[in-house]
Amino acid sequence: MDAMNVRPEVRDVPAYRFEARPALVKLDQNESPDDLPAPLREAALARMAAAEWHRYPALHPDGLAARLAARHDWPADGVAVAGGSNVLIQALVVLSGLGRRAVALSPSFPLYAQQARLLGSELTEVPLGADHAFPTEAVVAAVASGAGVAFLPAPLAPTGNPVDSRDLLRVAEAAGPGWTIVIDEAYAEFAGSDHTDLARDFPRVVLLRTLSKAFGLAGARLGYAIANPALAVELRKVLLPFSVSALQLAVGEAVLDAPAWIDERVRSTVAERERLAAALRERGVRFVPSVTNFLLLSVADAAETHRGLLERGVLVRRQDHLPALAGALRVTVGRREENDTFLRAWDALTRVNGEPHA
Ligand code: PMP
Repeated sequence: MDAMNVRPEVRDVPAYRFEARPALVKLDQNESPDDLPAPLREAALARMAAAEWHRYPALHPDGLAARLAARHDWPADGVAVAGGSNVLIQALVVLSGLGRRAVALSPSFPLYAQQARLLGSELTEVPLGADHAFPTEAVVAAVASGAGVAFLPAPLAPTGNPVDSRDLLRVAEAAGPGWTIVIDEAYAEFAGSDHTDLARDFPRVVLLRTLSKAFGLAGARLGYAIANPALAVELRKVLLPFSVSALQLAVGEAVLDAPAWIDERVRSTVAERERLAAALRERGVRFVPSVTNFLLLSVADAAETHRGLLERGVLVRRQDHLPALAGALRVTVGRREENDTFLRAWDALTRVNGEPHA
């Protein structure tokens, strides 16, 4: 195909790497292992049935934003809702990074760098420190002058380790006036972390949250940003009008009616994460201590271990293509029986191949 009409920034970006594969036990995308329970699905479907499908939804779902804001004791007009936090990452590059700079950690969630490249921001990738630590001083240096947007996942992804809130405070204090500091809290529920204090004290700090993980709604596509209301007004301008459909809204509203279910999901995932971590520790497997719903393992041969697990019905995610993550495999915390299947597959593989870990 003649791609001469495509901007070189787009042509030069590789396609997002993801290969969907069928597997008995799917532990590759950090999703909730459980779908909404039947009564909640019924409630969502009832809300969908009551929606006016022939009418446009609200320009921006202010009602849902207000309910999400209330969970954080935050002003309703300081929340921007979109069809997944992915969409907000792109919007934040448009808001503050387009034609300016973007800062992303390396390794981290690849979409930050990808969107920065697509939109022609000058990208600075800041390597993580020893043991995948948050590289505070290097981030401080990157945002000290100039203007742009910095993406800082907390907890870190895809390593899963926590970020000390004092390090984020140091970045917020040191950032030059031209910077928007985005703290991506995709996994914050599992860590019990919350950086609304920082966003309250530093109006250029924006928090990103998703309903794809702890809320179990990856398929419905909803995420939100928490920001100073003045900044949120600008962010909502960047989002396309009507981009959250009446159907997405119905699902989001239904799950917010059941906060106890969300809390229970978080509790059971954290308990399973700790059980899985203990079982792996017992086996001498190397992994990054995680406060999320996944564990990043280090193995001698990621391709071989990935294949061996898949042959035994367990799908995990290779991360060994990312910088400084040779031998890395990411396993999502599943249901108890899924985690047991994973451990059995691991043990079977160890018996065949010797120790798969590095
Ligand atoms: N941020 C991080 C750190 C993620 O890992 C993910 C998804 N895996 C996202 C954002 C995007 O989430 P969403 O489903 O809300 O687009």
